[in-house]
Amino acid sequence: MKLSHPHADIYVPSGEDPSAALDRVTHLCIAAHQDDIEILAYDAICDCLDDPQNKAFAGVVVTDGGGSPRTGSYAQFTDEQMKNIRRQEQRDAARLGSYAIQLQLAHPSAEVKKSPSPALAADLAALFARCAPEVVYLHNPADKHDTHVAVFLRTLEALRALPAERRPKRVLGGEVWRDLDWLVDADKVALDSGRRPDLALALLQVFDSQITGGKRYDLAAAGRRLAHATFHTSHTTDRLQGITWAMDLTPLVNDPTPDIATFTLAHLDRLRADIATRLTRFL
Ligand SMILES: [Zn+2]
Repeated sequence: MKLSHPHADIYVPSGEDPSAALDRVTHLCIAAHQDDIEILAYDAICDCLDDPQNKAFAGVVVTDGGGSPRTGSYAQFTDEQMKNIRRQEQRDAARLGSYAIQLQLAHPSAEVKKSPSPALAADLAALFARCAPEVVYLHNPADKHDTHVAVFLRTLEALRALPAERRPKRVLGGEVWRDLDWLVDADKVALDSGRRPDLALALLQVFDSQITGGKRYDLAAAGRRLAHATFHTSHTTDRLQGITWAMDLTPLVNDPTPDIATFTLAHLDRLRADIATRLTRFL
């Protein structure tokens, strides 16, 4: 598979041929940065580990990771050095999680935010020509990180361009920046991120340049998953040990006509109605 950027990286932990690895993929996550996959799609990684005969996970990181904040032992690192470290950390995560394949497309963030973004569009078209996952995990359109939203939009464009028979059965938008606890319960998709707690921690701690660099994503993601599981229902005990919330984006892919902003803001309308109804009942 030919990728656009000269620094793009294809890593197959098992050592098998990349085309063979892509053929097996059933669960695919396309995210903006190194470590986003492990925060938003841990449930998919576990699903594939639980059923390795029938399921295989692929991770795609779209940007080059050059602009990340850095302190401590990484404070003096150049952008180029940070890109190399983050590329290696993502490879380490793919190995730990037994991903079928890990792609790092290495596009600059500024390029991804442009519409159209021809180099990224070509990479995504090449990916979906090789690989037909059942479930695709993306950033959600209400995320508050500009690059996350841009990557979501570019990927949605690629999915909508596929013939109907090549589209995934399910497309989910997971939480990273700004969580999805605000969705009304009927709009929430609960991703089970309470499995294999040691692996969950290891998959986040492998990104040492971020954690030592001053952001405790490892503790924050674990805390959020536990909080979601506990605060989901007030009258029953916790069914899952950890939850990552997702928005079901399948309707946006099955039917290419709905306006993305209207679809997203309708979730807020339902939240507004939920709050108003409860208040009205007890006032
Ligand atoms: Zn990110």
